[in-house]
Amino acid sequence: MGVVVQKYGGSSVADAEGVKRVAQRIVDAKRAGNDVVVVVSAMGDTTDELIDLAEQVTPLPPPRELDMLLTAGERISMALLAMAVGNLGHEARSFTGSQAGVITDSVHGKAKIIDVTPGRIQRALDEGAIAIVAGFQGVSQDTKDITTLGRGGSDTTAVALAAALEADVCEIYSDVDGVFTADPRIVPTARRRDRISYEEMLEMAACGAKILHLRCVEYARRYQIPIHVRSSFSKLTGTWIAEPEQESEDMEQAIIAGVAHDRSEAKITVVGVPDKVGEAARIFEALAETGINLDMIVQNVSAAATNLTDISFTLPRADGQTAMATLAKLKTVVGFDSLLYDDQIGKVSLIGAGMRSHPGITAKFFTALASAGVNIEMISTSEIRISVIVDESQVNDAVAAAHAAFELDADQVEAVVYGGTGR
Ligand code: ASP
Ligand code: MG
Repeated sequence: MGVVVQKYGGSSVADAEGVKRVAQRIVDAKRAGNDVVVVVSAMGDTTDELIDLAEQVTPLPPPRELDMLLTAGERISMALLAMAVGNLGHEARSFTGSQAGVITDSVHGKAKIIDVTPGRIQRALDEGAIAIVAGFQGVSQDTKDITTLGRGGSDTTAVALAAALEADVCEIYSDVDGVFTADPRIVPTARRRDRISYEEMLEMAACGAKILHLRCVEYARRYQIPIHVRSSFSKLTGTWIAEPEQESEDMEQAIIAGVAHDRSEAKITVVGVPDKVGEAARIFEALAETGINLDMIVQNVSAAATNLTDISFTLPRADGQTAMATLAKLKTVVGFDSLLYDDQIGKVSLIGAGMRSHPGITAKFFTALASAGVNIEMISTSEIRISVIVDESQVNDAVAAAHAAFELDADQVEAVVYGGTGR
């Protein structure tokens, strides 16, 4: 008998039928002899609809009230799920994030978990009940206000509870059968991975694979919680995220874990920056003050005749206008020529721990892109990742070409997208 934490995404509980189907799975896990804790997201697109509603009432919803509003979505699904489980003859008790002991800092909209005190959850389990917890929310230690953890944050709630309860596994249920070598909507022959390391999954999540919240993977790695990503629409085994198995290290291991892509970034180029000490610092200090997270940064050698250089970087599209306005104010101070803004870009990343010990991966990747007629605009690498920026219209071709070049295609189509949202 073990402790199992199960998280169900919004597409798994999109309607009453979904709630009943999930309730049956929960009861099955309980009848198999486990203590079961469930974390649930808001039904279907509820969170988006609530945000729309708030924006119809006021152009800038106050963050405290927006959090209060959004957490209502998860309260609806947790209560309905507890009722559905009850109807199957098992006691279930629902808890808000606050009641479950999820303590956060006080940053509304993207609060960080600072402690988990699941006394009430433990008591419910001890009394034989199934605990159902509202995902993506907590309570601020300082202000005692209700907070949310950021979009997609229910994954992090689940892993945090799994760590606090010393669970044996954290199962994350969505509408796909696990982690695939590429997005099956772009590459229908993408292959499901049986296992993937935390390290590789972290890179995949950071590079736009939407299957898991980045912070959830960081949390799972820190506390060594094995995650099983699987579909709530099938009984298939999904993908295990855990440390690599020592014994299997020299067995036939894939060099490349997968190809991820991301269409959420934009590129800014500062043209004609004087090539002298301190100019880059000035530009990036100004951007740092806005709190914008930059991704890739590239600076060219300056042209000998002019001693001017160009600096390009990528950032979330949503922050593009703020960054452009901030930089425009620096024009005379730094003395650059102009600013270019391009949001028709996409990032394609090749990820795999095997890159460390296999030379030639970069050449093979770039050759594949060239054969597909894809032009590379920027490049960045880490120990286990190569990312390129390409024109947005070529993202799908680039992903497919890389996937084929590294022989990741399955012989037959394995991927089924049951709900369509991938959550
Ligand atoms: N319901 C929230 C969202 O849509 C949290 C989650 O789904 O994890 O972002
Ligand atoms: Mg959701």
